[in-house]
Amino acid sequence: MINHQEFRKHAHQLVDYIADYLGEIENFPVKSQVPPGSVFRKIPDQPPDSSESIDAIMDDFNNIILPGITHWQHPNFHAYFTGNSSYPSVLAEMLTAAVGAQCMLWETSPAATELEEKMMGWLKSMLGLPAAWSGVIQDTASTATLVAVISAREWKTQWKINQTGFDGNERFTVYCSEQAHSSVDKAIRISGIGKDALKKIEVDREFALKPGALQAKIQQDVAAGFTPLLTIATLGTTGTTAVDPLHEIAEICQQYQMWLHVDAAWAGSALILPQLRWMINGLEMADSFVFNPHKWMFTNFDCSAYFVKDPDILTRTFAMVPEYLKTKTSGVNNYSDWGVQLGRRFRALKLWFVIRNFGIEGLKSKIEAHILWAKQLAEKIDLHADFQLLQPAPLSCVCFRYMPANKNQQQLNRINQELLRTINESGKIYL
Ligand code: PLP
Repeated sequence: MINHQEFRKHAHQLVDYIADYLGEIENFPVKSQVPPGSVFRKIPDQPPDSSESIDAIMDDFNNIILPGITHWQHPNFHAYFTGNSSYPSVLAEMLTAAVGAQCMLWETSPAATELEEKMMGWLKSMLGLPAAWSGVIQDTASTATLVAVISAREWKTQWKINQTGFDGNERFTVYCSEQAHSSVDKAIRISGIGKDALKKIEVDREFALKPGALQAKIQQDVAAGFTPLLTIATLGTTGTTAVDPLHEIAEICQQYQMWLHVDAAWAGSALILPQLRWMINGLEMADSFVFNPHKWMFTNFDCSAYFVKDPDILTRTFAMVPEYLKTKTSGVNNYSDWGVQLGRRFRALKLWFVIRNFGIEGLKSKIEAHILWAKQLAEKIDLHADFQLLQPAPLSCVCFRYMPANKNQQQLNRINQELLRTINESGKIYL
C-alpha cells in the first residue's frame, strides 16, 4: 500500500488528471459505447493477494473503466435530469474523502452537524422556503420521499405502526398525479402501506395534477371507508417538468387532515429565481419538501435537501438511541435521528463550497441561462416545419419530436424511436 509521500505524489498527479478530464471532456463519447459484459469480463474474478501499484490501477481505470463511463458532465449530455457537478464541489469531495468523517451524531463531527444546520438555513432563504421549517440532507429524493411517507404514517396513527405494526384495519389511501416519479410508488410499497392504496390522479393538458379530480377521488374514498393519509405533489415532473398546483392541493389536504409532501427533486433549484416562486405558492400549508442540489445546483451526487415543518414528527419516527450511540451532549442535533441512515457522509461541505464559490448571483445566472437556452430551443422547434413542441418549456427541459409530413402516429413513434437510438448511439449527443 502506498505511504504518505507516495500519496502526496499520486494525489498531485490525480488532480492534474481530473483537471485534464474535465477540461477535455468533449473528446469522450458522451454515452458509453461499450457492450454489456465487456467491463465485467476485463476485471479478474479474484482480488489480488498482494499490493498493486496506483499506476497499474490507474492504467486499468483508463483502459477498462473510463470507456464504460457515460459522461454526465459532458456539454452534450441532455438525457435524464442533470446530475451537475462543479469545480468547488469536486474540491469539497476530496476533503470529505480525506477527513472520512461519519456524521451521524453531533459528537462524531460537530462541524458537520452545525454546517449542515447552517446550509439548510441558507438553502431555505435562497429558495424562499418557509423560514420556520427545518432541514436535513438525505442521500436522495427517493429516500426523502420514503421518510415523508413513513412520517405521515406515524403521525396519522400516533406512532402506533412503529410500535405494533399494521393491524389490517388502517385502510389508508395516498394520492399523487399520474406523472409523479416512481420513487413515490416505491415508498408506498416499502412503507408497508401497499401499492393498492396509491391513487394516481388525472392530469390536465399540461400534465399537472387536476385538483378537482383529487378532491373527487378523496371524497369517494372517504365515503367507501378509507382514511386519506397523504398527497405527494410534484414541482417539475420527470416526464415533462409539469408543476402541480400546490396551493389548491394544499387546501384539499388541510380539509382532509392529510400530510402534504412536495417533490421538487429537479425543479427546486430553480426557486433561487424569485420569478419562479409561484411554484411554491401554498408551501406553508405543506408538511415536507425535497429538492436535489445534486440535480441542478452544481453539487455532485449525492445531496438531497429535505425540509419539514415539524422536525419533532421526524425525530419521533426515526430516532433510535442504543447504548453505544448515547452521548452526554444535549441540545444538539443528531442527524441520524432525522432519517433512515445511521452513518452519514459529510455532504454539507460540498454545498458550502458550491454556494460560497458561485455566490447566489452565480447560481442564479447559470440557472437563468439554462432556462433561456431551453426557451430559445423551444422557439426554434416551434417554428420548424418538421419538428413539434409537445409541451411548453417553463424550465430547462424541452419535449419535442421530429414530425415529417404525411406520417401517422405509429410511423411517427417509430421514426422518433429510431432517430433517438441513432443519435444516442453516435456518442456525440445523448438525448
Ligand atoms: N422525484 C423526481 C420528480 C425525479 O425526477 C427524480 C429523479 O429524477 C426523483 C424524484 C428521484 O431522485 P433521486 O435519484 O434523488 O432519488
